[in-house]
Amino acid sequence: MARKINLIVIHCSATPSGKSINRGEPGKPGSLTAPQVIDAWHAARGFIRPQAARLAANSHLPSIGYHFVIDVTGEVWTGRGEDEVGAHAMSYNANSVGICLVGGTEREGRYTPKQWASLEQLVQMLCAKYAIPARPPLRALSGGGTWAIERGVCGHRDLSPDKDGDGLVEAFEWLKTCPGFNVSDWLSTAMTPEPKNVFQVQPA
Ligand SMILES: [Zn+2]
Repeated sequence: MARKINLIVIHCSATPSGKSINRGEPGKPGSLTAPQVIDAWHAARGFIRPQAARLAANSHLPSIGYHFVIDVTGEVWTGRGEDEVGAHAMSYNANSVGICLVGGTEREGRYTPKQWASLEQLVQMLCAKYAIPARPPLRALSGGGTWAIERGVCGHRDLSPDKDGDGLVEAFEWLKTCPGFNVSDWLSTAMTPEPKNVFQVQPA
């Protein structure tokens, strides 16, 4: 049975912006792609995908918690199958899809123009596919005093608890800064990144 998906969560790999995380020469023995490197990190944290889910999608990635990885080249890799619950957003995995941009370790994450283009395409595709509005999600207090966060697109940091209860998750409330840019602003400007969040290759 297909699960209900109504939230898109954007993450970063918390590695230096604009820098590939691949290992070795692509296609050569022992080389690792970006999702394989992230898979190894998640394996070290004890993430294990169920056998059936692995057989259904990317069996060579037994641990990865994200559904998509966007490389510095703009290449979009798949991780978990979309129907598979991810491991990327504590308390919000059941109803969400997780996208990881490679880079973003700085306070202001910087992503290449190709990454921004791929992120826009991917978010638009997922919003259309699951009828998710391309705006910040709704937050509502649900049973047991926990927050339900649904029907929208946000950054990982926006899932931090709203400690002062004013309906906004402010910088002082962030559990982490991932993905290092303001997803709400990005959505409200027709998915245009702020210049400080664009990684430009310096001319040699
Ligand atoms: Zn994250």
